[in-house]
Amino acid sequence: MMSEFVSVAIDGPVGAGKSTIARAAASALGYVYVDTGAMYRSVGLHCRRKNADMSSPEDIAAQLGDISLEIRIIDGIQHIFLNGEDVSEEIRLPEISMATSAVSAVPEVRSALLGMQRDFAEKNNVIMDGRDIGTVVLPNARVKIFLTASPEIRAKRRFDELKAKGREVTFEEVLNDLNKRDYNDSHRAAAPLKAAEDAVLADTSGLDFEQSVELVCGLIKERL
Ligand code: C5P
Repeated sequence: MMSEFVSVAIDGPVGAGKSTIARAAASALGYVYVDTGAMYRSVGLHCRRKNADMSSPEDIAAQLGDISLEIRIIDGIQHIFLNGEDVSEEIRLPEISMATSAVSAVPEVRSALLGMQRDFAEKNNVIMDGRDIGTVVLPNARVKIFLTASPEIRAKRRFDELKAKGREVTFEEVLNDLNKRDYNDSHRAAAPLKAAEDAVLADTSGLDFEQSVELVCGLIKERL
């Protein structure tokens, strides 16, 4: 049966601006924004806290039984709770990003989160962002967008963001981390990062934030 709700899938590499653009587009169009990266990041955070062996898929999968995730929308913003604790800020730390890339390659982790993600889309009009939304999570999404920009531009945006938060990082570190994470995400066996065949490619390299939001909103409206 076709769902009565509309789904928009936005995938793409690190730092393409998916989450900020998707959040703004969702708010402009009255959709619920679902950040699937936050779910993977929460699993990564839990595994790190428990000192799981990040090179062992068995060790990572064994943590899943102790993880309960909940997403709550507070004042229009998605917050994620890991075993009752709001971890929305902590999951953004760069060391958690790299741990997340490891846990997200584990098939058991992916199937545990898939159900939660589809459940959201069955009950709401959603704009969902991630790596495999158009290919695996919501293959029937009404609109699929693959958002990208050159690695240097994506790294520069991420670098500025981290600097603004007072983090001591160099541009080279940010660029290296981003390239490593993109490589891991697109070369893993389980649901690798790639554009769905029916996705429209949107390159934001030459665009500022407002222009990117306009582009994405335009693409969505065009296809609905
Ligand atoms: O989007 P974000 O950078 O927050 O995602 C963090 C990590 O979570 C990604 O590098 C990727 O390894 C993983 N992820 C994924 N599938 C998704 C969303 C995120 O594998 N749908």
